[in-house]
Amino acid sequence: MSLIKKYGIYINGEWKENTENSFYSINPYNQEKWAKITQASESDVRESIKVANTAFEQWKNVSGRKRAELIYNFAKLLEENIERLAILETTDNGKILRETRNQMKFAARNYLFFAGYADKINGNTIPLDNNSLFNYTKRIPLGVVALITSWNSPISILTNKLAPALASGNTVIIKPSEYASVTTLELVKLIEEAGFPKGVVNVITGDSKVGKWLTESKGINKVSFTGGTETGKIIAKNTSNTLTKNTLELGGKSPNIVFEDANINAAVTGAVAGIFGAAGQTCIAGSRLFIQKTIYDEFLQKLVAKASKIKLGNPLKKDTEMGPIANKAQYKKIKDSIINAVQEGLNMALGYKDFENQLESLEETGYFIPPTIFTNVENKSNIAQNEIFGPVLSVTPFNNVSDVIEMANNTDFGLAAGIWTNDLQRAHNLADEIDAGTIWINTYRSTAAQAPFGGFKNSGYGKERGKEALLEYTKIKNIMVNLSKEVRDPFTIEN
Ligand code: NAD
Repeated sequence: MSLIKKYGIYINGEWKENTENSFYSINPYNQEKWAKITQASESDVRESIKVANTAFEQWKNVSGRKRAELIYNFAKLLEENIERLAILETTDNGKILRETRNQMKFAARNYLFFAGYADKINGNTIPLDNNSLFNYTKRIPLGVVALITSWNSPISILTNKLAPALASGNTVIIKPSEYASVTTLELVKLIEEAGFPKGVVNVITGDSKVGKWLTESKGINKVSFTGGTETGKIIAKNTSNTLTKNTLELGGKSPNIVFEDANINAAVTGAVAGIFGAAGQTCIAGSRLFIQKTIYDEFLQKLVAKASKIKLGNPLKKDTEMGPIANKAQYKKIKDSIINAVQEGLNMALGYKDFENQLESLEETGYFIPPTIFTNVENKSNIAQNEIFGPVLSVTPFNNVSDVIEMANNTDFGLAAGIWTNDLQRAHNLADEIDAGTIWINTYRSTAAQAPFGGFKNSGYGKERGKEALLEYTKIKNIMVNLSKEVRDPFTIEN
């Protein structure tokens, strides 16, 4: 009997497997095919849109209290399944178990946060100049929302979208990445167990074609997408015909800035966690490290010493600090970026110089790339400007505040930035000057259910998490009522 798990698509509460048209999920640690996923067809996509629209007609009338109860039930089920889901996610994308476990806990926390908002979504009464006109607004759901996610943190990323979408009364069609679909499909079983009505949450799996069909279709009121910048631009174009609203969470090339007065040990740890956490496969990776010249050599020495001790290995093992790269395509992309940087003559302080030969032994067990550090990198170089999405850090010295602001902002991206200093004025002034959606001061990669997240420039638009996320999944209807019995002059516009 095959031990490979098999998954169908999930539409209107029914599972539909297609054994003819399917693909495998591959464990990046041992390269074993471990799950078989259905490739949805164009008619499956159409069916999911029809079902989600029909379900919306009922779901939009469900009270906020009932929605809150369902999301709460689901959050509790998720809490009970943290370990199981974390192991599945680690098997699917190679991220270390310690981190996937934390991500599941954080996801459950986020569902609880939005459960608390489900019955508190209100409009306003707005006083007008004319007292005989009574004006109020209602904040109502958008309808059917397509949630498209990437492979690096499937459940975390999905939660950022699904929790506010359900809390505010939308129905959804989820399209996970073809590289890591399993946990999303497992999660939906818990959605069903929590008692959500059929058709409120649907999942269609498959490659980019499925995403394309979904985003080009009528009957979708919003697309919330997390993935690469180029894909985000295609989605913005493909949704322009139907004027579908978008939230786009895209790539990054975030600066992490260390001043001479910083707590050096904390900053070294922050720099290492910023780029080597999740093997650098996070949109918020602090991939450009700027160090003030006066501490450059000392800092670099400590950084390289710490990074070189990172233990690579089986992501399911307790003492592993960095797992393999999540899939072969990404592994190749990172490897090529490193080889190109070496060929361009950049100085490598840590990593494989003779990449091909040194990697042979590790490649047998997984797509491993060790922590890689390039020093004295010019901010305009390829390695400092292009998102690599891997454990590759470029380090650049700077002289003063204006110098570093110029370099930090000189990028197409604007997702996040880190500032390490004990000078309060400088920290706050710099936070104002840096053009990024998230600024961390004396910390990096910290997240909270309450804090809004989302990028500027080529990192996308729209916000996730926090009450700001609810604004993304609702629209405002304005209602004006004439309280006077007098017949109004039809030819004047009154206010
Ligand atoms: P990707 O853009 O290749 O794919 C993301 C998803 O979009 C997948 O589900 C894919 O099937 C789908 N897709 C691909 N082409 C499509 C199309 N034409 N229409 C609709 N859907 C389509 O990205 P990826 O490789 O899965 O993820 C890595 C990228 O995601 C990195 O650039 C990273 O920075 C970004 N990311 C951003 C955030 C954030 O919050 N800003 C978080 C995580 C990852």
